[in-house]
Amino acid sequence: MKIVVLAKQVPDTWSDRKINLDTGFLDRSASDPVPDEINERALENALLYKEANADTEIVVLSMGPEQTTQTLRKLLSMGADSAVLVTNPALAGSDMVQTARTLAAAVQQMDADLLLAGNEATDGRGGMVPAMIAEILGWPVLPGLDHLQIAADEVSGTAQVDAGTLTLSSPLPAVVSVTEKTAEARFPSFKGIMQAKKKPLDTWNSADLGIQAGPEAASSRSVMVSAQGRPAKEAGPKITDDGTAAAQLAEFLVANRLI
Ligand SMILES: Cc1cc2nc3c(=O)[nH]c(=O)nc-3n(C[C@H](O)[C@H](O)[C@H](O)COP(=O)(O)OP(=O)(O)OC[C@H]3O[C@@H](n4cnc5c(N)ncnc54)[C@H](O)[C@@H]3O)c2cc1C
Repeated sequence: MKIVVLAKQVPDTWSDRKINLDTGFLDRSASDPVPDEINERALENALLYKEANADTEIVVLSMGPEQTTQTLRKLLSMGADSAVLVTNPALAGSDMVQTARTLAAAVQQMDADLLLAGNEATDGRGGMVPAMIAEILGWPVLPGLDHLQIAADEVSGTAQVDAGTLTLSSPLPAVVSVTEKTAEARFPSFKGIMQAKKKPLDTWNSADLGIQAGPEAASSRSVMVSAQGRPAKEAGPKITDDGTAAAQLAEFLVANRLI
């Protein structure tokens, strides 16, 4: 079985994340780039399957700037067999549709049986890319699985919805997106880090994929109209207990519609 894991490079969630207010793009120099944690969990699901099924091949796939190789090397050190980065300056500023078109075109070159993704990126948070790729490929999609089981010809799992728990299954090939309730990702071992240096990491551009992609090639696209920084935090009111603190607290909560 060939499993392709979609991995996005994102700013470290522990650092201060910033956007460029002129372009609306992420300021990538403001924080350390890391693999999105949700994608490490998606990879962990693939690795667990591979441990029980040796004839499994795992490819990690990302679209992003050239520095995304850093993320892909980490995922290789965790156990993926190879990696592909799709990059091209013309792809910068791609919206979800353009990203899905590009990634789907890459998947079409790979003869994959299963595509694993995160349910939502920690920075963009569109939550639509996996379903869009499934639509383009004409594959079924199992979105937001909390638990999944991969079998030779089928994938199944459960997803939490407002009204309860859904049990879903689909024949392969299929697209699955997972939530943060799935497998906790492993740390790369020293041996894994050394092996990752020799594993194949290919870089493709849109020309390799035979498609016109990126904002300029889109017939219609979403455009950032304006961007504003988060307002600075203001100090809240201080309440000194003169015997009326409880009443003042209750008033504050009511005034701010917190109770
Ligand atoms: C040169 C260049 C610069 C870019 N700069 C930015 C930027 O500044 N900010 C930004 O957010 N994006 C950037 N991108 C990536 C792209 O525009 C976004 O990935 C895209 O808009 C997805 O939106 P989302 O994060 O809301 O996806 P979601 O739908 O929330 O993502 C869900 C899942 O889809 C998969 N996925 C999503 N995007 C990618 C990806 N790029 N590669 C592999 N898997 C993916 C992951 O598994 C993810 O967990 C850049 C791309 C390139 C080529």
